[in-house]
Amino acid sequence: MNKTVKGLFDFIEKSPSQFHAIENQRQAFLAAGFEELQESKQWEILPGKSYFVTRNGSSIIAFRMPTNDYTSFMIMAAHSDSPTFRIKEMPEMKEGHYVKLNTEKYGGMLMAPWFDRPLSIAGRAIVKNGDNKLKVCLVDLDRDLCMLPSLAIHMNREANDGYKYNAQKDMLPLISMDEKFNLKELVAKSLSVKAEDIVGSDLFLYNREPGKVWGADEEFISCRRLDDLQCSYSSMEGLLAAKNSKTAIQVHATFDNEEVGSGTKQGADSTFLFDVLTRINEAVGGNNSRLLAAIANSFMVSADNAHALHPNYSEKSDPTNKVYMNEGIVIKFNANQKYMTDGLAFGIFSEICKKAKVPYQTFVNRSDVAGGSTLGNISNAHVSINGVDIGLAQLAMHSPYETAGAKDTDYLVKLAKNFYETIIENTASLDYTLK
Ligand code: ZN
Repeated sequence: MNKTVKGLFDFIEKSPSQFHAIENQRQAFLAAGFEELQESKQWEILPGKSYFVTRNGSSIIAFRMPTNDYTSFMIMAAHSDSPTFRIKEMPEMKEGHYVKLNTEKYGGMLMAPWFDRPLSIAGRAIVKNGDNKLKVCLVDLDRDLCMLPSLAIHMNREANDGYKYNAQKDMLPLISMDEKFNLKELVAKSLSVKAEDIVGSDLFLYNREPGKVWGADEEFISCRRLDDLQCSYSSMEGLLAAKNSKTAIQVHATFDNEEVGSGTKQGADSTFLFDVLTRINEAVGGNNSRLLAAIANSFMVSADNAHALHPNYSEKSDPTNKVYMNEGIVIKFNANQKYMTDGLAFGIFSEICKKAKVPYQTFVNRSDVAGGSTLGNISNAHVSINGVDIGLAQLAMHSPYETAGAKDTDYLVKLAKNFYETIIENTASLDYTLK
């Protein structure tokens, strides 16, 4: 297995929820000598040093200061969450001798592939830790624990003629035959705490199947949560590998809640990014005008996976912009600007790809298909920057087991490193210099 794919699989294996993904990035940045900042404290920031800050334990912004005075930000953003099922409060539901769990959809998933495979539960619990003290603990029950068994074909003869899933009826996983089964007790046991000390939780289902490399020439990979941990991981690795810039602040941002519209305090539609850029500027003694000048010189890459042409449904792709796995970075366009890419940003970004010797391709939805949205233009409403929406090509987006190209993670890590090391100067209103 290629080293980058192994690194990606290891990261995803340890990241069954967005909280785990951010904790693993936190650990990777600490190990690389980044200093952790707290949003609740004052910041001291020095030239040439690297820092990171998290919000809600599910979003992170890491940045490396340039050696000289800063004049711009080079930002790459991705998201930490994936569609899944959230375990409701009071989840135990008895059905005859069975106990199943009451769940609620998180995001827009393909439902069919959640059936007939071992599932587990991960997220976080808020635990009372002595008088008036609460501690947030990561939870990963980490074993084959529950399942959504299909209804037999004999009991639903129309099963293969198109089935409409009802989230409140069909998507309740079987977990026990012990009528006293209580999920909170299982979570408490996994944390070695008392069930009554768990005062809150955010728990989600996840697919247990580990990542696999497959295909006649091992050209494909399949894994849970490739959208968007593949991009988030690549951006992190790119930043870790990048050398200090002379004048650009290199910013890796991964936001939670993209799958539900980004409108949370830690989502791309929050003040998180703007707050961090503002606080960096203040910490180095900059006034507001300096911050806005730097933003005008900045560039943002919103990295969120893209649809490859499907071998059985090629008619679903645009007739002239056909995207394939293993053929490099996908740059996304949309006339209604659901993606932030425009001709200028594409020109700048494709030059960076060429310099980095990383292949790229273009994606546009069929004109009669609405398509999805992502976080680039949402973030742009808070921090308005030139930029592109990109992704890596994949199949089965929003399935609990997605498929991508074995070469593409390497391409994005390489591109991210080169992107962070690039400086773009808006030298006159219509002139841009790339260094
Ligand atoms: Zn995504």
